[in-house]
Amino acid sequence: MEKNLNNSSSFRPSNFNNLSNPNIKNSLEDTKFLNNSLDKTKIAYNFKIILLGDISVGKTSLLRKFIDNQFLDNYNATIVAEFKSKTIRVGEYNINLTIWDTCGGERHRSITKQYYRNVDGIILVYDIGNRESFNNINKWIEDIENNCNKDYIFFLIGNKCDLNGNQRQISYEEGEKISRELDIFFMEVSAKNGQNINLLFENMSEYLCKNIENSQIEEEKLLFNNNSNNNSN
Ligand code: GDP
Ligand code: MG
Repeated sequence: MEKNLNNSSSFRPSNFNNLSNPNIKNSLEDTKFLNNSLDKTKIAYNFKIILLGDISVGKTSLLRKFIDNQFLDNYNATIVAEFKSKTIRVGEYNINLTIWDTCGGERHRSITKQYYRNVDGIILVYDIGNRESFNNINKWIEDIENNCNKDYIFFLIGNKCDLNGNQRQISYEEGEKISRELDIFFMEVSAKNGQNINLLFENMSEYLCKNIENSQIEEEKLLFNNNSNNNSN
């Protein structure tokens, strides 16, 4: 995957500074687990990602754009499925992302424990045209800290960056500044025109892989290894 994670459209927290331009293939090859004779080109991981943020910031739109490449001006508040899945490639690895969208619970920040359970990645979204959604970031972080007790990759996302002129209430610099203070990743995206949507999930996937590499690899994250192919050939 050709891209520079340290470009001006994203901010990377300091504890990942030693991970610039990650080459997943090379770094994963070094890990103890993978040295254990697995077929490195056919490993797939399954990660759970949750979308958080005030109502109407564009969480459902962002998910639809990523999954179906669709954008609608108005979404019905009723969401049939609570999550959607998509498999993407990171280098030579298949990464299955199961992405959970809130079903109206964000209105009163009444997100259930179940939603946070075993989460690998968090995408906290605000609307760059809505100051209140930005001000509520700290409340969401409080909620996350009260409910998550494991390591997770954390992205702060300013959505609706297609808005221009006086529609914008939060500058890019302001979003980047709070991300630095919180030491979390930051990007601006647009679910409407698709800007940075794929990049967001690609970056998330790469860092999830890095995170696995830096910790003990959890068996349940491994969907399959096609070592068994050796037998079927
Ligand atoms: P949610 O409540 O966070 O799930 O937000 P929705 O996805 O339902 O979106 C709320 C409203 O914002 C809808 O009218 C969307 O069409 C609109 N919206 C979502 N994303 C964008 C975006 O990137 N740009 C613009 N201009 N509008 C957006
Ligand atoms: Mg929604």
